[in-house]
Amino acid sequence: MNLKITCIPGDGIGPEIVAEAKKVLDVVAEKYGHDMQYTDILMGGASIDVHGVPLTEEAVETAKSADAVLMGSIGGDTTTSPWYKLPPNLRPEAGLLGIRKALNLFANLRPAVLYEELAEACPLKQEISGNGFDMLIMRELTGGLYFGERKTVEENGVRKAVDTLTYDENEIRRIAVKGFDIARKRRKKVTSVDKANVLDSSRLWRAVVEEVAKSYPDVTLEHMLVDNCAMQLVKDPAQFDVILTENMFGDILSDEASMVTGSIGMLASASLNDTKFGLYEPSHGSAPDIAGKDLANPIATILSASMMLRYSFDLDKEADAIDEAVKQVLRDGYRTGDIMSEGCEKVGCKRMGDLIVERIK
Ligand code: NAD
Repeated sequence: MNLKITCIPGDGIGPEIVAEAKKVLDVVAEKYGHDMQYTDILMGGASIDVHGVPLTEEAVETAKSADAVLMGSIGGDTTTSPWYKLPPNLRPEAGLLGIRKALNLFANLRPAVLYEELAEACPLKQEISGNGFDMLIMRELTGGLYFGERKTVEENGVRKAVDTLTYDENEIRRIAVKGFDIARKRRKKVTSVDKANVLDSSRLWRAVVEEVAKSYPDVTLEHMLVDNCAMQLVKDPAQFDVILTENMFGDILSDEASMVTGSIGMLASASLNDTKFGLYEPSHGSAPDIAGKDLANPIATILSASMMLRYSFDLDKEADAIDEAVKQVLRDGYRTGDIMSEGCEKVGCKRMGDLIVERIK
């Protein structure tokens, strides 16, 4: 396959971790006979320094012309960096919001995986975390409460604020289809999370998800109320495969699910539109405190590259090879500083990339 990938190294540790992900993609390409072409674009602080804005039109056009985008992370130290003296629409994060909008990325995927080898990092008791868990939160990203009409008014001397939670059936259907498609590549279970006992938007959500489910008889669907889901994530996380939910519930639940894995340097993510196109990035930020020191854990970015192969290119075998190599490196006892534990060998960012490459070869 010929694959055109736009890379956004970004700021802080971004360039270091993207370099390792490219190394891994290159060895996969070589082994499985693919051709990967990369074009780098500037975004965030790196773009502000050169162009005065966090994202240019040309950068967006380059991203649009690719098959997928692989990103490191953007942003600097928010208390000391001059980027944060700029108005909000010119700060690094505005670049990320801008590209998500320009690429119409409405589905956000965040896997939360507890590797047996990293069980110590999990804040849950051993009898709950058991042999690990492997779930994926599929969050609607462009609708709901965060994008509805809002206002603050004063009535008879009393301040009143209103936020509106709106979804139409098309917005729900397209994310549900993504959720079921992705469940088919996994353990074939969808847990749709809503608040249908109270909210009309949730009752419509539930009805549309059930309609979509009819086209996926091989996938098991269950519904769960969001408050119960928040409890179940810490009570029995292994029960979940794909959690499908709206924007605000997904915002909260995906952070909760990430925390129960206990290791920020391991968490990949993807944002997809209604084609196969996606933007893939680690869930963590640009870690300015460790930038340029070869200390960053590149695994979240490497696993994001694996998601890119799986979800944008349907290269499941190649993605499995990356995921398995990551597990093998952990089994062999290598750790970056953030996931270090007693008896393991501490390695830097580059060496971690090399170790994963060796295991794919
Ligand atoms: P952060 O995720 O960058 O760092 C939090 C802590 O985790 C730090 O101690 C850092 O050293 C550590 N850490 C993060 N990733 C690591 C990795 N791969 N390996 C080892 N250690 C790692 O969060 P923050 O400090 O709140 O934010 C720093 C900057 O990143 C800010 O400018 C913020 O706006 C930005 N940010 C960007 C994104 C993004 O690009 N999508 C996401 C979150 C934060």
